[in-house]
Amino acid sequence: MTHMHVAGAIHADVASPAPVWLTRPDDVNELTTKLWSSNTKREEDGVISIAGVRVTDLAEQVGTPVYVLDEDDFRTRARTWREAFAGWTVYYASKAFISTVVARWLAEEGLSVDVASLGELTVALRGGVDPARIAHHGNNKSDAELRVSLTSGVGRIVVDSSDEITRLERLCAELGVTAKVMVRVTTGVEAHTHEYIATAHEDQKFGFSIGGGQALVALFRCQNSPHLDLVGVHSHIGSQIFDTNGFEVAARRTLKLFAQFREATGQELPELDLGGGFGIAYTKEDTPSSAADLAAGLREIVRHECAGYGLNVPRLSIEPGRALIGPAGTALYRVGTVKPVELGSGFSRRYLSVDGGMSDNIRPALYAAEYSAALANRVSDAEPVISRVVGVHCEGGDILVRNEFLPGDTGVGDLLAVPASGAYSRAMASNYNHTPRPPVVAVNHGRITTILRRETLDDLLALDAGLEKSES
Ligand SMILES: *Cc1c(COP(=O)(O)O)cnc(C)c1O
Repeated sequence: MTHMHVAGAIHADVASPAPVWLTRPDDVNELTTKLWSSNTKREEDGVISIAGVRVTDLAEQVGTPVYVLDEDDFRTRARTWREAFAGWTVYYASKAFISTVVARWLAEEGLSVDVASLGELTVALRGGVDPARIAHHGNNKSDAELRVSLTSGVGRIVVDSSDEITRLERLCAELGVTAKVMVRVTTGVEAHTHEYIATAHEDQKFGFSIGGGQALVALFRCQNSPHLDLVGVHSHIGSQIFDTNGFEVAARRTLKLFAQFREATGQELPELDLGGGFGIAYTKEDTPSSAADLAAGLREIVRHECAGYGLNVPRLSIEPGRALIGPAGTALYRVGTVKPVELGSGFSRRYLSVDGGMSDNIRPALYAAEYSAALANRVSDAEPVISRVVGVHCEGGDILVRNEFLPGDTGVGDLLAVPASGAYSRAMASNYNHTPRPPVVAVNHGRITTILRRETLDDLLALDAGLEKSES
């Protein structure tokens, strides 16, 4: 399903329970460049700094756990993708992480934004994103949310079901507006990491099936509706994808649909969105492609398939989320307990409990996602030992980093940094165990700016209707 490594396999020659893919580092203090945001380094005294901010200062000023966004890294990545895909529209998938500050950065860097809820839409609008540059997704959009979308002038609504088309037509009639729509299709391609599966039928909740014929019917319906302006077709095949094989099959199947539509109506659909899902490096194992290589690959795929069907190349767009914000974010935690656990046969694993956990990053528990970590407040000469970074929550699966070599003397009070934490961590955070969610700070040129403050117990208690309201 997801990016899962072989878990539990034992090195034959080393007395450690490390999985086979995790190799003992030559220098445990070294930061592997591809894992860390571009302005991250070790200072001379061994402390990690991000964009000129020492993590020790950061921990002192804002506390831990904290999510740190390297603003320059994010902006540079956004620009790199926009330039690599020049001529295409690059929509940032806001579900990876959004706040009004991030929305403003995106607007300033010339990106468009896709949203999938009233909350994301509201934040994007409040952050100053031009509504015309917003795409609105979702498989069960409410009346309230479609109303905001229509009245604020959102650029396109990606319709996902016949019920939604009915609802949208009714709202358009009521409001006296026309909605620009794309039809979300399922191509039968499901891509994850280095593998993709192409099947004949599609057993999932999103979109209209191409294979089952519903996609073409939906296109006809939108084309013929007086309330809808049909812009094109949208396909999204998966997440954490490292190559273009899955996109090739998806493009072939979608463009075949374009050809069928033209045959039936005499008209060509103007636009194709190929979705997001471009992978990043969470561990040394991962080898993501550059934006430039992906762009070259996707351009060639579309050109080739269009030529095959005798179609003009449509306007094109993509929706990277993780690839833009993931590598820009680092999570910082403080170690509270260290526990060696005997595994038998002479093996042991060190459990380092930190002050966060599955409430701020559910991905390891949800998808068995792998992460890396480094001792952040100092360097160490101690032997690297296989360690597991766990959280504070009442679940055995409350794991943040399943396997990592960390210095054997990593102890209580030390800081651990987890790179590639910008996407789907704070954005998916919960209040499990009544845990206030951590803040997100931006760092740039030695300055710290809070972009999402730390939640407090008062924030949580404010929702508790059983408390007497104070008189003040
Ligand atoms: C989740 C999602 C994306 C972004 O996926 P990433 O893996 O973050 O790039 C883009 N488009 C749609 C429709 C999505 O659901």
